[in-house]
Amino acid sequence: MRAILLGPPGCGKGTQAKILIDTYRVPQIATGDILREAIAQETPLGVEAQSYMDKGLLVPDQLVIKIIEGRLKQADCESGFILDGFPRTIAQAEALDTTLAGMGLKIEYVLSIEVDDAELIKRLTGRRICRACGESYHMAFNPPHKKDICDSCQGELYQRDDDKETTIRSRLKVYEEQTAPLIAFYTGKKILYPIKGVGSIEEITTRLKGVINA
Ligand code: ADP
Ligand code: ADP
Ligand code: ZN
Repeated sequence: MRAILLGPPGCGKGTQAKILIDTYRVPQIATGDILREAIAQETPLGVEAQSYMDKGLLVPDQLVIKIIEGRLKQADCESGFILDGFPRTIAQAEALDTTLAGMGLKIEYVLSIEVDDAELIKRLTGRRICRACGESYHMAFNPPHKKDICDSCQGELYQRDDDKETTIRSRLKVYEEQTAPLIAFYTGKKILYPIKGVGSIEEITTRLKGVINA
């Protein structure tokens, strides 16, 4: 299975990706996680990406495209993959098509998760992330069993710097301007599946699996 989870910051892409990879036995490829890891390790990529991420802006296309090109050629992607947070621009989507075409592959499903801005702001301001495994929690909507400790790996939970209200607003604006055009792009390719993103986490998983298993 080769799928893209598309949608605004906070719509639930990471939460759902972590569930779907267990069912379909494919890797989750999250550019945001890869970039945060590079920042933590202070690699040249991390140093370059950080100033954009802190402002809620997109990291330049050529940087993320290079990450993805390398990642898709790794052996664990042979059975498929779930892209989470990539592509975010038309240029990224076109580069993805070219890379996959060179491997004789294409994307089968673009699952577009729809949530309105008021709900996104509530989700992002309450979000906590596991420092060790990247799992998402929410202080009210999806709390861990033990305060500030990851259920899956016992890692420490933290609040991302860009999950503060002013940065959230710029990320939502960047989504509308640069990423939302992908909805029309993939509708044109007849692989776009809109999914209502409000409801329990389990309900949304059921909707996603309904499309994939149809
Ligand atoms: P969220 O889960 O809130 O949507 P991500 O973890 O996917 O956030 O991304 C965090 C930040 O990393 C983005 O605001 C952006 O700066 C950068 N980033 C992640 N993926 C991409 C991408 N495909 N293109 C450009 N920048 C990206
Ligand atoms: P994304 O990867 O799209 O930025 P996340 O998966 O990190 O989004 O989810 C954003 C926040 O919303 C997290 O705090 C998560 O626990 C919470 N969340 C995810 N799905 C739901 C849902 N169906 N209802 C309420 N909150 C949710
Ligand atoms: Zn964890």
